[in-house]
Amino acid sequence: RPAPVTIIGLGAMGTALAAAFLAAGHPTTVWNRSPAKVEALVARGALRAGSAADAVAASELVIACVLDYPALHEILDDAATDTLAGRTLVNLTNGLPTQARDTAAWAAKHDIAYLDGGIMAVPPMVATPAAFLLYSGPRDVLAAHRATLGVLGEVHHLGEDPGSAALHDLALLTGMYGMFAGILQAFALVDSEGVSAASLAPLLSRWLTDMASSVDFYAHKIDSGDHDSDVVSPLAMQATGLANLAQAGRDQGVDVELLAPLYDLMRRRVADGHGQGDVSGLFELIKRGSATG
Ligand code: NDP
Repeated sequence: RPAPVTIIGLGAMGTALAAAFLAAGHPTTVWNRSPAKVEALVARGALRAGSAADAVAASELVIACVLDYPALHEILDDAATDTLAGRTLVNLTNGLPTQARDTAAWAAKHDIAYLDGGIMAVPPMVATPAAFLLYSGPRDVLAAHRATLGVLGEVHHLGEDPGSAALHDLALLTGMYGMFAGILQAFALVDSEGVSAASLAPLLSRWLTDMASSVDFYAHKIDSGDHDSDVVSPLAMQATGLANLAQAGRDQGVDVELLAPLYDLMRRRVADGHGQGDVSGLFELIKRGSATG
């Protein structure tokens, strides 16, 4: 029999999580600060809780997904915290590794089993094969709820350090936002000559898919610290190419500010004598302890 689940927070994501558990046949209790968001789920079979404490009392497994950690702690007032004792809280709210570690310490103090997590999906992807979720915290706690959590998407355990899921989540989002910046800049460049985004899209999508192999290629160089062997595309050549695309943008009156910091890093690395090295060498300028201002 599917285990009972409580969902706290019914924003776009919490609603998708609750809908996924309902569809999988789990008795699902829901609570949200603004009560109106409960109605659609209740119509689909969810159980309404009158307070956060009542929601917690309904299930051994409580999943929270709200805007941020301060919101979570606002919701978990004294009554809800007392009721959580002896139960499991899985917090899928986006936040910092330090917030996750502080919340794990708070949970331990209140005898709450705690997993911190990150959702690598947008709401329509939840419970589809495309969704994966990152978890950190005690292995046995995850094992106890693995089947239930698996409803939402692929389960990845990133270790017992409660901050680990948040760290990895933020790292994946960092890669995504870098990609978003490039995509928007690319559309702005062709738009400046009257080319629609839709007509660039198939080529851009194909190119970015091919270039995703850079992740493994650079990871190997970064871990070995050797950015100067097996170089296919030397940095000096790339810096010249980047200067060209920035100049093309400027000629067309496009704002190229997003590219400027990358170009500055490339120039510094070339000036340091690594013009024939790989672009992965920029890591040495970015990483902790390397900021030169
Ligand atoms: P929404 O903005 O849609 O919902 C925010 C939720 O937080 C609502 O339930 C809201 O309650 C609640 N909330 C905000 N402030 C408070 C507060 N002070 N006290 C109580 N409740 C509060 O956000 P999402 O559902 O999209 O996101 C939720 C989490 O999921 C975030 O951490 C987000 O980063 C993460 N996430 C979201 C993704 C997405 O694409 N949407 C993708 C991956 C992760 P109320 O309805 O009363 O305002």
